[in-house]
Amino acid sequence: MNPQEMAEAMEKIRNNVKSIKHKILVMSGKGGVGKSTVAVNLALALADEGFRTGLMDIDLHGPNVARMVGLKKQPEVIENQIFPPEVLPNLKVISISSFVEDDAPVVWRGPMKTTAIYQFLGDVAWGELDFLIIDSPPGTGDEPLTALQTLSDIMALVVTTPQAVAVQDVKRAINLVKTMHRTPLGIVENMSYMKCPNCGEVIKLFGEGGGKDLENLFDIPLLGSLPFDPALVGFSDIGKSIVTHMRGSELEAAYRETVKEIVQRVKL
Ligand code: ADP
Repeated sequence: MNPQEMAEAMEKIRNNVKSIKHKILVMSGKGGVGKSTVAVNLALALADEGFRTGLMDIDLHGPNVARMVGLKKQPEVIENQIFPPEVLPNLKVISISSFVEDDAPVVWRGPMKTTAIYQFLGDVAWGELDFLIIDSPPGTGDEPLTALQTLSDIMALVVTTPQAVAVQDVKRAINLVKTMHRTPLGIVENMSYMKCPNCGEVIKLFGEGGGKDLENLFDIPLLGSLPFDPALVGFSDIGKSIVTHMRGSELEAAYRETVKEIVQRVKL
């Protein structure tokens, strides 16, 4: 993109996202900590609580969001605008997986990824939203960087597990957010513990203290600690979510609590 095209793209994005109140980038230092699961279920929980929500999957090499929300509908393209399908009355979803063939590797390099993200932000008819939840790949690569650079009011939600190695990588993600003068919204610790289904004993599968350590180190609030629940694995594979299919579980309650914290913190 030449400077003129770039300026036009930025202007288009500014206009297109101006009716979105809160943009939240879900980041993690490491893969496998449950970042996409957290992004998807927070979006579903927000929508379920009545907030107009958008969910945007920019994990371009491993887009799992569509499967996790059970998205079957395709976006519609009308006169250069992309209309995102709704999986719930309050939840619009856009994922790169709608634009590439199933199982095909996404072999894009930096500039193509950046262009795709500009399109998701500039060409998708999001309309008026309370929240846009953006699921980015783990680490500090092109995708989270582009989102942070492009949206000046974006806030970062960082997902970690309690384990020291996960925490170490998350520090890089938080430092990127700070270096770019963006707002760290908070930390979510996933897989904090598991309750034995037989005796109820609390098992710390991945150690403890990671989220608290980050909270203390960076002075960023720990917004939620989510338990490990083996039932989730089967559900997310077939597009059933925690808030809709695990009602009454400790995991669902922890998600609802986390949403409450988020809503309070952004002061809607
Ligand atoms: P990431 O996006 O960080 O790579 P995913 O969201 O794909 O991670 O999650 C990795 C795996 O962990 C998935 O199989 C998911 O179902 C599972 N998972 C995530 N959170 C939990 C949890 N709280 N309890 C049980 N399994 C979980």
